[in-house]
Amino acid sequence: MSRIRLLPEILASQVAAGEVVERPASVVKELIENSIDAGANKIETLIRRGGISLIRVVDDGGGMDRDDALLSLERHATSKIRTAADLAAIGTLGFRGEALPSIASVSRFRLTTREPNALAGTEIVVAGGRIETVRDGGEAAGTQIEVRSLFYNLPARRKFLRSENTESRNVEHQFYLQATGHPAIAFSLVRDDRIVVQVPATPTLRDRIRDLHGAELIDQLLHLPVPNGADAIRITGLIGRAGVSRKTRTQQLVFVNGRAIESPVITSALREGYHTALMRGQFPVTFLFVELKPTSVDVNVHPAKREVRFCDPSAVHEAIVGAVRATLEGNRTTWQAQFRAPDSTATPTPASSPALLPPTHDLRGAALPSPPTGEQARWPAPSRGDSLELSDPAIESSIGLSTRPSPSRDEKPSASHEFQIIGVLNRLYVLMENSDGLVLVDQHAAHERILFEELRRRMEQQGVPSQRLLLAQTFDLGPRDAEWVERNLETLQKMGIGIEAFGRKTFKIDSLPAFLHVSDAHQFMRAVIDGLRNASASASPVRLGEDMIAKTVCRHAVKANDPLRFPEVEKLFRDLLACELPYCCPHGRPTMIQISLAELEKKFGRKV
Ligand code: ADP
Ligand code: MG
Repeated sequence: MSRIRLLPEILASQVAAGEVVERPASVVKELIENSIDAGANKIETLIRRGGISLIRVVDDGGGMDRDDALLSLERHATSKIRTAADLAAIGTLGFRGEALPSIASVSRFRLTTREPNALAGTEIVVAGGRIETVRDGGEAAGTQIEVRSLFYNLPARRKFLRSENTESRNVEHQFYLQATGHPAIAFSLVRDDRIVVQVPATPTLRDRIRDLHGAELIDQLLHLPVPNGADAIRITGLIGRAGVSRKTRTQQLVFVNGRAIESPVITSALREGYHTALMRGQFPVTFLFVELKPTSVDVNVHPAKREVRFCDPSAVHEAIVGAVRATLEGNRTTWQAQFRAPDSTATPTPASSPALLPPTHDLRGAALPSPPTGEQARWPAPSRGDSLELSDPAIESSIGLSTRPSPSRDEKPSASHEFQIIGVLNRLYVLMENSDGLVLVDQHAAHERILFEELRRRMEQQGVPSQRLLLAQTFDLGPRDAEWVERNLETLQKMGIGIEAFGRKTFKIDSLPAFLHVSDAHQFMRAVIDGLRNASASASPVRLGEDMIAKTVCRHAVKANDPLRFPEVEKLFRDLLACELPYCCPHGRPTMIQISLAELEKKFGRKV
């Protein structure tokens, strides 16, 4: 006796629904996408009890006639593709013809729809996949879909739903995605009779983000550069400034041809684009739009259409890395203008310049020794002789800090100083005043950034100068470590580590980067291998070198608590402003924080 049977239509729809309709948020996603595909200018969404008891989506799009309305509830019925060629070049959000029948098979479903020029519309009521009523109806032109009692006929699915609050949050997230992706459409979301979001149609993404997330977020975002008309891959949108990040990926929004997606290719490209501007474990804030020919991307790879496959993933990767880098670095001019350094040649002695006059009291109120005037002026008086200071000749000559002409020195001297140094807080934060208010500089982070960029430049050019060890050291490595060292020998040498194979598993080190003060070369190598091997399994040599610098530089930059002399603070600041990415240290921590006068006024209750 044969055992294989064709499933009844309704059961087949319920099986399909298992993939498409996971929870209320997936219903909202499918319905809003249909409304967008129908050319709506306005989409209203309403949910009750997390969408479990009711979801209603109303649009003013093209609507359907009676035949189409009935057909839309059949499986594999779609107006969006007809041929295999269409499937290879999808320009709409939907294409499978599966959402409506799936949703209708697991809920009490009602559809009313009217085409703009039709006198009468159609109303169809379905329960658990069975059509119960078809009659004339339909109010305004467009389509209205109500989904009640989701999974009422599938108790097992219903059990998997989370609390109403969690389901509501999921719906809201989905709603934000759709509303962000389509600024030209007006959206509203009502939750349990309360308006959660209502945003008007707008021509710009910026306005939409402001309307959805507030003006404060907008201030933290940068526009990606306008793409070249000839680009095959167009990258647009807004991304967070260096240092702006989140603990989760919820604000890392990515759209490919208008569709919100999750993509490992794009996630890694963003990570690489931000590289040293991102703290460990943090995610960038992005509203990233990738547009490419529909034939260059396959959207038919995930049941909920949440993922895509690119024909040329490395081209997409490269385009995104380039756009992000250009944006973060391009922001430098504005930033420099805000924190303009005083011109070094015009720097008067402290006594003659009120702007640069050192304070007579430190921030705790204790009197500081009055500084002598002239070049030798030390401010504040250093208290520890052994500290590694910026002017340490060993460092400067080894990495060439003092010989590199700082670009900011070539700039025109500014007539007036844009900031005044007020003092140093806790021996770590340099306090300054600029036209906007208070600026705090983390001297350690700032120095790390300067050293990092300097060393990277060196590595890319002639290599980091190394210093011979008195005694060359040999040591053995396990097979995996040995393989890693072999593979990265060139990068290690460029980093100033004189290492070579000396037998099968034995290596010899005879020199180390000059700026390092390491006594045990073997131990140092161990630390380098442990720190980098896992992180850099697939990284490029440049990236590996950057990681190596970031990890070694940190420990050798000015330590917090190292007192800096007054001219050093100035130099530190000027060098920082000349960096490619001055806003943050190589580990993504900010180098500077601005506290505006407006913020202070608010805090002091002068302004509400
Ligand atoms: P798909 O979107 O993949 O085509 P659906 O099951 O979501 O499949 O929808 C089936 C068809 O119903 C669509 O192709 C479209 O023609 C029609 N349709 C669905 N929703 C709407 C709507 N809001 N307005 C107009 N037509 C719609
Ligand atoms: Mg659809």
